[in-house]
Amino acid sequence: MAEAKSGLDITTIREDFPILKREIHGRPLVYLDNAATSQTPQQVIDVIVDYYSRYNANIHRGVHTLSQEATVAYENARQTLQRHFNARKAYEIIFTSGTTHSINLVANGFTGFLKKGDELLVSAMEHHSNIVPWQMLCEKTGATLKVIPMNTRGELVMETFHDLLNENTRLVFCNHVSNALGTINPIEEIIEAAHAAGAAVLIDGAQSAPHMKVDLQALDVDFYTVSAHKVCGPTGIGMLYGKEEWLNRMPPYQGGGEMIAEVTFEKTTYADLPNKFEAGTPNICGGIAFGAAIDYLNEIGFEVIEAYENDLMAYATEQLLSIEGLKIYGTAENKTSVISFNVEGIHPYDIGTLLDKMGIAVRTGQHCAQPIMDYYQIPGTVRASFSFYNTKEEINVLVEGVKRAVQMLQ
Ligand SMILES: *Cc1c(COP(=O)(O)O)cnc(C)c1O
Repeated sequence: MAEAKSGLDITTIREDFPILKREIHGRPLVYLDNAATSQTPQQVIDVIVDYYSRYNANIHRGVHTLSQEATVAYENARQTLQRHFNARKAYEIIFTSGTTHSINLVANGFTGFLKKGDELLVSAMEHHSNIVPWQMLCEKTGATLKVIPMNTRGELVMETFHDLLNENTRLVFCNHVSNALGTINPIEEIIEAAHAAGAAVLIDGAQSAPHMKVDLQALDVDFYTVSAHKVCGPTGIGMLYGKEEWLNRMPPYQGGGEMIAEVTFEKTTYADLPNKFEAGTPNICGGIAFGAAIDYLNEIGFEVIEAYENDLMAYATEQLLSIEGLKIYGTAENKTSVISFNVEGIHPYDIGTLLDKMGIAVRTGQHCAQPIMDYYQIPGTVRASFSFYNTKEEINVLVEGVKRAVQMLQ
């Protein structure tokens, strides 16, 4: 792995991303929807092409060379993730189709562990995929879902969290970073307090993994989820980290090939980790590309990425706030490069549509987090989310674009 460079060479970086050369409606693409999905560098695209061109084969079962090469590459990718996230064991990294799949796997796994009277704690700023599976689990088991509230800046009210924790709390789940607001939540404090109360913790890392290095052993978290497509990898692949003890206790999520030790019509015994949770032919190429994406980010270096993105965010915040009537939702002291905003009297969708005509990709709506929008009593926001391949020039284009949109709509 190359030494992290001391600064970010933005010209070289942008050359890595072929899509950034596209034009949209005759204008250069300004891609500011990174919190929805990130773009893919040529280095990762090459890995995908190489897989299908040279060693596409099913893994684990084969004695032939291609199958062995594919197996080695897939398991190497798992080890890359283990090292990067500092998991104790490679088999604590389960390949899934993404964060949604990972959370559903855990929610299903806990079905047999819960009874009426048990409590689950969820934060007020979750993505729907970290709310709905738990509601389904509560319906099945009779457990109750309680909500850790947030304040107007978009920060969790930690006093209430500590008050809500009690001997009936079994599980706490929270995102590391909010996709709608950018808030970085105090997960260290959450994990420590939950453990002291005897509860397990699942952290949704879909929005943190692209922006910061995460040390799972230092966090001592029970479960952590990541989607590859938000860290410059492909869609349809992600990971669930689970502590070995939990993964051993939880039953398999799906039955099928690859996840068994022995099958007879009388009884089936399950395979060891990680195979127990990876039924069927997995997204082999996706897993390998996920590893390559993490390697790519590490070559740039997360310290460099964080510093650069913080600088972009500070600049964008200042420039956007110069627009009359513009309000930013999510002003936490600790946040990543996500800016959710509205302009007084204008529907976010209308701004988004006009920005697209100018080649600018932002997201509008609820960002799969309706409870946050209900809290602010708004229909949604315009969300600009920045990555290390964005530039200040692009932010200027955004700011001018919003100004023009506002003029046209007022
Ligand atoms: C994107 C996202 C998810 C869902 O991830 P998928 O890749 O769609 O499964 C969950 N939580 C957060 C915070 C997200 O940003």
